[in-house]
Amino acid sequence: MTNMYYNQNINEQVLQGKTVAIIGYGSQGHAHARNLQDSGFQVVVGVRPGKSFDQAKEDGLQVTTVAQAAEQADVIMVLLPDERQKAVYEAEIQPHLKEGKALVFAHGFNVHFDQIVAPEGVDVFLVAPKGPGHLVRRTYEAGAGVPALFAVHQNATGQATELALAYAKGIGSARAGVLETTFKEETETDLFGEQAVLCGGLTALVKAGFETLVEAGYQPELAYFETMHELKLIVDLMYEGGMTGMRYSISDTAEWGDFVSGPRVVDADTKQRMKDILTDIQQGKFAKEWIQENEQNRPNYTRIKESETTHQIEEVGAKLREMMPFVQAAKQPKKEVVTS
Ligand code: NDP
Ligand code: MG
Ligand code: MG
Repeated sequence: MTNMYYNQNINEQVLQGKTVAIIGYGSQGHAHARNLQDSGFQVVVGVRPGKSFDQAKEDGLQVTTVAQAAEQADVIMVLLPDERQKAVYEAEIQPHLKEGKALVFAHGFNVHFDQIVAPEGVDVFLVAPKGPGHLVRRTYEAGAGVPALFAVHQNATGQATELALAYAKGIGSARAGVLETTFKEETETDLFGEQAVLCGGLTALVKAGFETLVEAGYQPELAYFETMHELKLIVDLMYEGGMTGMRYSISDTAEWGDFVSGPRVVDADTKQRMKDILTDIQQGKFAKEWIQENEQNRPNYTRIKESETTHQIEEVGAKLREMMPFVQAAKQPKKEVVTS
């Protein structure tokens, strides 16, 4: 059964009077810290000296080292890149995990795959917004919110669920809906979603479409508009009205083409490979390989990133976007990932 929570079902009092440490001030970190502070909660940001540190100061937050923030806080939200969390946790957070504190995540990876094992006596839960950090902030400011999942892994104080819900309300997610899950379900579905559909599936689909047109002799600029730029307009319609809403706005010709050609692109074989990807995630194969890749200083990641960044669609797209100031204006100071 699905348990959904909204603002009116949540009493945030349990978080009042507590100090929340936001560890990391990147995509999610800046949004959680600023939204919680604007919601009236006591926030301290913990981050290493550098760009994020300076930005948090500029945004009017109290900022200190990770260790000091962890020491001061009752609720410690870890918003570092997943692959860095274990090392920073062991060096700077764990020593300050006194009984009764809460250790919180926005993604279950490190807890689910046993990279971080918190001491007994500490609450462990997650609050995972289902959207990029910059939208968590932008929608909050607009009076709305990004939906979130929450899950309790360890309930030492007996208050973990109430704390998780209060936190979700504080970042604005309970305006959109907060859904109860487990660390296992959140971790596996989040990894699957970003790999098969949202990031991996989507970029592969766009590239294949772009290359097909360019290799057939069509203009690269036109191919860019057709396979990348217009995608946002279509996705916005799906976001607002589902597939039916999107299909209402497109021509009947486009809709017929959607019906007959879509299943030729994504067929039973593609679905079988999605199932294989899910199996690799469930069995820990993906996690193991990603942890190893980081231990070896990311040789494959670096090589693939280089070739992806220099793909023709990226070069053509950068030039075209320069001529579209309205697209530029929406640019964020920091990377805006679709999910993560
Ligand atoms: P980012 O990469 O955007 O931010 C990382 C932050 O951590 C930066 O402020 C960085 O500071 C800081 N940092 C990195 N290394 C260290 C270190 N050794 N010591 C101290 N600070 C450090 O992370 P995300 O916001 O993308 O991800 C955070 C968590 O949220 C992850 O668990 C992710 O899975 C989850 N999540 C992310 C989503 C997203 O939209 N990105 C969506 C949902 C969940 P510096 O500037 O110094 O590098
Ligand atoms: Mg993710
Ligand atoms: Mg995600």
